[in-house]
Amino acid sequence: MANLGIPQNTIEILQKYKFVFQKKFGQNFLIDTHVLEKIIDAAGIGKEDMVLEIGPGIGTMTQYLAEAARKVVAVEIDKNLIPILHETLQGYDNVKIIQGDILKVDISRLVEEENGGKPIKVVANLPYYITTPIIMGLFEGNVPIESITVMVQKEVADRMQVGPGSKDYGALSLAVQYYAEPYIAANVPPNCFMPRPNVGSAVIRLTRHKTPPVDVKNPELMFKLIRASFNQRRKTLQNGLNNSQELQFTKEQIAEAIGRAGLPAAVRGEALTLEQFAKLANVFSELTE
Ligand code: SAM
Repeated sequence: MANLGIPQNTIEILQKYKFVFQKKFGQNFLIDTHVLEKIIDAAGIGKEDMVLEIGPGIGTMTQYLAEAARKVVAVEIDKNLIPILHETLQGYDNVKIIQGDILKVDISRLVEEENGGKPIKVVANLPYYITTPIIMGLFEGNVPIESITVMVQKEVADRMQVGPGSKDYGALSLAVQYYAEPYIAANVPPNCFMPRPNVGSAVIRLTRHKTPPVDVKNPELMFKLIRASFNQRRKTLQNGLNNSQELQFTKEQIAEAIGRAGLPAAVRGEALTLEQFAKLANVFSELTE
């Protein structure tokens, strides 16, 4: 089958099937062989790997993945793309296409069935409207994963990798960095897609930590503290935690915990590192034991 990374080949297959782009599914297909090679490279795919591709579209990246990996499982929501995928991927016997919504697929079961439960690599040019739920679902669902290499909106990639002091720093930065080591592999302009998105994009690789970088007794509590801190960015940490619906600590407990964690009384949540949030969560755990 012709390489769909070449724009003319993508146009031909779209016309053959009279395909109509669905905005609601975030459909922007890659038409740049250089970017496709970069993604495969950044993902570090080898012949022993099973890859989960989210949203294969017409199969452009799937072709590259099938060449590099042992096995590719691709989950696509749009029923109209399934017959196209069967044509564009017919030369490969190591690709399995599943029609469905990735947010509803039991990925752990899939990994068990297709890879004997061994960690997989996730590679995708993600639909931008559900980037965060997809990534957090993969991490929080405890799916056996080695790395996630994805194309996302440029701003989202930036948010995932920054630390305190940046306006982009927030709950997503901390959540991603708790689970993985982020690395931005490429910036990708709109003209590499069909149709062109109205935002810049970036390829980010998230390599899952073997053990979390911080020692926190109750991660769920830490994430509640993080959400409370960033919900009210301009408030002090003390006020942010006090006003949270998710937390039931008294004003006195909050003041004591902030002190015991070695933080200044008027500190803002957005100034805290992951280590400091972990420490604060552990102090709260001790206080309420
Ligand atoms: N991988 C292709 C490429 O690089 O050209 C297409 C990428 S396009 C940005 C995103 C793809 O995800 C589309 O094919 C879209 O139909 C699919 N998609 C959107 N929402 C999805 C969902 N919830 N589950 C699975 N696939 C989804």
